[in-house]
Amino acid sequence: MSDHVLELLNAYIDGELRGGQLRKVEAHLDECQSCLEEYYSLQALSATLLAAPVPDFPAPERFRRGGGIAPAAQPGQTNAQ
Ligand SMILES: [Zn+2]
Repeated sequence: MSDHVLELLNAYIDGELRGGQLRKVEAHLDECQSCLEEYYSLQALSATLLAAPVPDFPAPERFRRGGGIAPAAQPGQTNAQ
C-alpha cells in the first residue's frame, strides 16, 4: 500500500476525522512506519504548543506591583452655577 496519509495526520490528531477516513488513517499507521513517525512528531509538536501557551496580554501582577492606577486629578472643577 503506497497511499500515505500524511495530509490527514493533522486532522486525525485534532480529532476531525470520522468514518472511513478515520479507519483508513488508523489502519495505515498500523503498517506504515514513516507515517507513524510523522504522526508522533506532529503529536509532540501539538502537545508542546498546548503546554506552553503564549500569553497575549500582560499579567495582572504587573499592574498591582505598580500601586495601581492613580485616578485622574480634576483641578479647577467648580460647581458655580
Ligand atoms: Zn504511509
